[in-house]
Amino acid sequence: MLSTMQDGQLSLAHLLRHGTTVHANSEVVTWTGEGARREDYGELGQHAARLANALRSLGVTGDQRVGTFMWNNAEHMAAYAAVPAMGAVLHTLNIRLFPEQLVFVANHAEDQVILVDGTLVPLLAKQLPQLNTVRHVIVANGDASALEAPAGVEVHSYDELLAAQPDTFDWPVVDERAAAAMCYTSGTTGDPKGVAYSHRSIWLHSMQVCMSDSMRLAQHDKALVIVPMFHAMSWGLPYAALMVGASLIMPDRFLQPAPIARILEAEKPTFAGAVPTIWQGLLQHLEANPQDISHLREVVVGGSAAPPSMMHAFEEKYGVPILHAWGMTETSPLGSVARPPGGVTGEQAWEYRYTQGRFPASVRARLITDDGTEAPWDGESVGELEVSGPWIAGAYYGDNVDPDKFHDGWLRTGDVGKVTPDGFLTLTDRAKDVIKSGGEWISSVDLENAVMAHPAVAEAAVIGVPDEKWDERPLVAVVVREGQSVTAAELREFLADKVAKWQLPENWTFIDEVPKTSVGKFDKKRLRAFHSEGKLDISKL
Ligand code: ADP
Repeated sequence: MLSTMQDGQLSLAHLLRHGTTVHANSEVVTWTGEGARREDYGELGQHAARLANALRSLGVTGDQRVGTFMWNNAEHMAAYAAVPAMGAVLHTLNIRLFPEQLVFVANHAEDQVILVDGTLVPLLAKQLPQLNTVRHVIVANGDASALEAPAGVEVHSYDELLAAQPDTFDWPVVDERAAAAMCYTSGTTGDPKGVAYSHRSIWLHSMQVCMSDSMRLAQHDKALVIVPMFHAMSWGLPYAALMVGASLIMPDRFLQPAPIARILEAEKPTFAGAVPTIWQGLLQHLEANPQDISHLREVVVGGSAAPPSMMHAFEEKYGVPILHAWGMTETSPLGSVARPPGGVTGEQAWEYRYTQGRFPASVRARLITDDGTEAPWDGESVGELEVSGPWIAGAYYGDNVDPDKFHDGWLRTGDVGKVTPDGFLTLTDRAKDVIKSGGEWISSVDLENAVMAHPAVAEAAVIGVPDEKWDERPLVAVVVREGQSVTAAELREFLADKVAKWQLPENWTFIDEVPKTSVGKFDKKRLRAFHSEGKLDISKL
């Protein structure tokens, strides 16, 4: 029997219309270094309409791709709102990709137009002649005349182009299954692969972001969005904010700890999202420059494992709870969120909060062992995590397929972990980062967390290195906190009662900085390369 219900399209044009009228007084605040410029959601609606008219005037029709090469700011937000709502596809380009990867993704997605921030023009200019499908570049927040256009490309000033446009637009009803936006994986483990989100997947994902056992985003929130809009759609925060009317605080290019601390002081956000390295940096800054940040009701951390020592420092010194979450570009990205079950308190609650979190109803999950069988959810059995659901990718875009990644309707995450009977995921590693020592597995994440709990350690990354006797053994690369000192022997001693004896690392190296990927995660690929090229000075205990 068919239902008697209407079948309205979950189209982003509705989201834009709703957010910019019902929540017209909410704001997009963009940091300028000295202060902030402000646009309310009502103005955002007009801004988005002018942008959509401008893009139409440049010939953008159908599902053509509009690339953005931008910081988190009001203009980027207008593109998030306007491009999918007009039926085109927003392609957020990662400004930190290696040049050849940038060329690859823009050509692969066949971007027609690129919106670029003035400060990023020099970065884009070098690669622009190789971007074969780009016909127009629009320079926002800067001087368009600074960009010399290659043959066949027209350069426009964002302000001049938009000033000539009407501030209303007849937003079409777009099929909810059509692509709305695309994002390429940042390539931590290979070439970037394109994920094309649909209107429907973004809509459903936005609802999940706002659910109370998820990120709990609500109309009274002011969300500081540090996670870049080119990194897995800023974890869905911009669209979720538009859905419920939460205000957005955008740091633009001011991402160092000192300016972040100033934004916190000036704008007093209630919520914020960023990868662990950003919070580690802020923590160090706050130690030297104390400041009240208790206006943050919660901070969401994901992208890589949140070290428990960092979670305790934020909560106990600053009164700010860290909410740990797991996801990937391929999962929109929200996959699981670590809120302890009701009634659980004290140390037990912390144990739940350290995990990568619980799957919501829309994310189905299973663990697959080496022999292809499904591991039970008993909190102990380990396997590769596979997920499926309405906001999980079922394929990569175009011919850039990776058949190993998808099978029987499931996405293979490449993450290895265990799940408790009540659905909490603990990741022990990425499949390729697991250290195999004498036939047993050592979790690089567990070792990193244990080393980072030492007060003299700012950062620690662990990789497996070849070993004649055991095949592989862990190597710990340590960054010591400024003004502190610690030896490898002291760190090993510190670990002695925290990890099994056979897991105690004997290889240590002290470095100035852990290499980071384009989205701020530990770049173990490069660390492994440094090791194999003999660039690390190793002490063996
Ligand atoms: P990339 O694959 O380039 O790093 P993504 O941002 O999509 O790009 O990364 C997704 C991966 O990040 C996950 O597969 C997982 O390995 C890691 N990750 C995300 N969140 C967490 C977390 N909370 N704890 C540990 N690892 C995480």
